[in-house]
Parts: sequence; structure tokens; C-alpha cells
Amino acid sequence: MQIGFIGLGNMGSGMAANLVKAGHRVHAFDLAAPALEQARASGCETFTTARETVAGAQVVITMLPNGAIVRSVYAEDVIGHAPQGALLIDCSTIDVASAKAVAQEAGARGHAMVDAPVSGGIAAAREGTLTFMAGGEAAAFAQAEPILQAMGKAVIHAGESGAGQAAKICNNMLLGASMIATCEAFKLAERLGLDLQTFYDISSRASGQCWSMTSYCPVPGVGPVTPADRDYQGGFATALMLKDLKLAMAAAGDVGAHVPMGERAEALYEAFAGQGNGGFDFSSIIRSL
Ligand code: NAD
Repeated sequence: MQIGFIGLGNMGSGMAANLVKAGHRVHAFDLAAPALEQARASGCETFTTARETVAGAQVVITMLPNGAIVRSVYAEDVIGHAPQGALLIDCSTIDVASAKAVAQEAGARGHAMVDAPVSGGIAAAREGTLTFMAGGEAAAFAQAEPILQAMGKAVIHAGESGAGQAAKICNNMLLGASMIATCEAFKLAERLGLDLQTFYDISSRASGQCWSMTSYCPVPGVGPVTPADRDYQGGFATALMLKDLKLAMAAAGDVGAHVPMGERAEALYEAFAGQGNGGFDFSSIIRSL
């Protein structure tokens, strides 16, 4: 299948490479020259404009930083430029309103579209073990599913257009709050004189157990190897967690949902990112406690 892929950053580069490995012909575009070079090295054919990239494509995939960029790339270079009937898949994490608006515009021009944000970080993108949560009509999802499977370990239909983004921000609101709570528990345990490995051994098998503890422990040398063991380098950046919490708070505001823990998590991540920590893994917020 010929796939046009736009946005070859930390996530998109690995995803495009996995599509090549699965036997697809990948035409790729990014604004950054080093990203194009890396894409060529992994077997993609690169182009100098997004429009050329989507010409002749049966499927277009985007992995871009935010909703404003997604809206403009689709409006200017994808819709009306990709072949009639091409399937459009946006894997970026963006606001629900932008996801719905772009899908509606695409639908009006004869394109099926799926919003399919991902869970799993850069390593999962590289290894092809992402979890995709997809929003769109059942027929569009059925078309997208085998393509997404080449890049992930799980592909789940969340509901209608925008539902993938809704699931993503609810999940990440939970993750942000649970990470802070996990950090607090370790810091309190320390103050109370507990050995942190012993506390991990207890809590990881007791009712406080959660992913932030057993898969992503924020304490160096405790639990599995995580960004904490690499001085919080790599992983999922604090700035991206803050972006997702802001999307969640905006969505909660739109529908009048009361999310006090989410609000608190956003405020704490905002303060932490504002102190120059945006580039560190989000578990590094333990340093602020
Ligand atoms: P990134 O900044 O590394 O990559 C984005 C790429 O898009 C860059 O290479 C940039 O040059 C390119 N780009 C920007 N504007 C463009 C345009 N108009 N045309 C073509 N290319 C353009 O970001 P990332 O970490 O790869 O994240 C991409 C998306 O995935 C974001 O929405 C992010 O929230 C989401 N996400 C990231 C992670 C993670 O761990 N990094 C995890 C899950 C989801």
C-alpha cells in the first residue's frame, strides 16, 4: 500500500520505519531536514512538500505536535490533494474539537478519517508496540486497523470521530495524577523512615499498586529500569504531559465536568515545567516534592 506520512519526529520516525518493515511504500515529509534523512535511512522515500507526499497515497498518516498544525496541514495540503477516497489517519495528540472539525471537513470531501492517538512513548513507537485508541465510523476503523496494527500491539475502537482523542486525554489525566500521587507516597515513606525498596515490595503488591509505580517507578534503583535510572532523560517529557493535561482541562471545561485532581495535576506540572524541567521525563516531578 502507498502511505503518505507527515511528521517524522520522535514518534513518527519509528512509526514510519515500522510501516516500511511491514511492506508498505512510505512517502514521507517533515519540515526538519534531519528527520527526512533519518526517514530515508529507514527506507522511506522523502519529498520536499506535504502535497507531493500525499499525491497517489491510498492512506495518509500524520504525527504532528498540536491541533493548530494538524488543522492547517489537512486544510492546506491533504484534503483536496490526496486522491479521492484516500483514508486519513491522524495519530497526533490534539484537542477533541480540532479532531472532529478536521474529520468533518475530510468527510465533506469524500475521505474517511480516523483520529488515532497513541499511548506508549518513543521506545514503543520504535518497537511497534504502541496502543492506538481510534475514533471514527466503523467502516473507517476497519480500514485503518490493519495499518495501525503494523505499528502497535493494540488497536481499539473508542467510538465516533473525536473519541480516540477523548480516551487519550482521560487516560493521560489519570496518569498525571497517579504519577504525582506515587511520587508523594515514596517521599512520605522516606520521611517516615521506610526503606524505599521495601515500600515498593509492599505497595506494588497492595492496594496502592498502579502503572506509575510498577512499570514507571519514579525512584532511581527501585522497581524496573525507568527514566529515573537515567537521570530522568528520555521517556515522556514533562512538557508533553502538561500539554495533555491542558487538553484534558479544556475538554472538561467544554462539557462542564468537575475534575479537581486533574486540575491539581495540571497546576503542579505547570509550576514544575515553568522551573525549566519541561524536557525531563514527567516522573522527575518527584524532585519538586
Ligand atoms: P516531535 O516534536 O518530535 O515531532 C513532530 C514533528 O512534526 C517534528 O519533526 C516537526 O518538524 C514536524 N512538523 C511540525 N510541523 C510540521 C508541518 N507543518 N509539516 C510537516 N512536519 C511538521 O513530537 P513527537 O514526540 O513525535 O510527538 C508527536 C505527537 O505525538 C504529539 O502530538 C505528541 O503529543 C504525541 N505523543 C508523543 C509521545 C512521546 O512520548 N513523545 C507519546 C504519545 C503521543
